[in-house]
Amino acid sequence: MPEIGERFTEIRESLPDDVQLVAATKSRSVDEIKEIIEAGAKYIGENYTHPEATEKFEKLGELRKEVHWELIGHLQKNDINKALPIFDRIQTVESVSKAKHIDKRVEKAGKSIVPVLIEVNSGREENKYGIEPTESALEETIRGVGQLEHLRLQGLMTLGPYRGDPEDARPYFRVTRELFEAGKAYVEEDDGMEVLSMGMSNSYRVAVEEGANMVRVGTGIFGPR
Ligand SMILES: *Cc1c(COP(=O)(O)O)cnc(C)c1O
Repeated sequence: MPEIGERFTEIRESLPDDVQLVAATKSRSVDEIKEIIEAGAKYIGENYTHPEATEKFEKLGELRKEVHWELIGHLQKNDINKALPIFDRIQTVESVSKAKHIDKRVEKAGKSIVPVLIEVNSGREENKYGIEPTESALEETIRGVGQLEHLRLQGLMTLGPYRGDPEDARPYFRVTRELFEAGKAYVEEDDGMEVLSMGMSNSYRVAVEEGANMVRVGTGIFGPR
């Protein structure tokens, strides 16, 4: 079995330069995270703010500054205060109401701006978070987030239904890409719609074909959870 760092490098090198690789590190140890940082990882994605991400953030010490911290799991309202000092971007904003709750707490956390992505429930799944995959839902959310002083919208994120065959994910990635393009009409800043985060270990190649410029890979780097 190749080492974690080698697998990270292999995947990194297989991706076009303009596609960012987020290492999905839920359930991985601090030592495993150190290995990928040493291999050159720039982005790590955690799912659970507390206690998992808070403990890892603490334990990594100075090394934590080598990477961008991405929140890729659902953010509970009562974890917002803990999440804000850790995460450089929140990829899972699923409503204007959640965005407002975050916005209210940014200054107290010692920050002035928090970059965010809107999560799209591209498969309209009941057990997943995210806005409905329609242009009207997207427009409403973009306009709502746009009014908040401390959030900076940067793009969209989706999970999509998980099935064995990555081809089955393609239509959901495509729908999200179409919304991403449509959303450009509603953002005020030039950089308001430039990150499209989609695709996991089994599906990131398909996601890149469909326009993802950020993929989130866990098992492909670290092995089975
Ligand atoms: C776990 C996770 C991933 C990575 O999944 P793998 O199948 O391990 O690559 C990507 N995105 C999110 C939101 C996740 O929770």
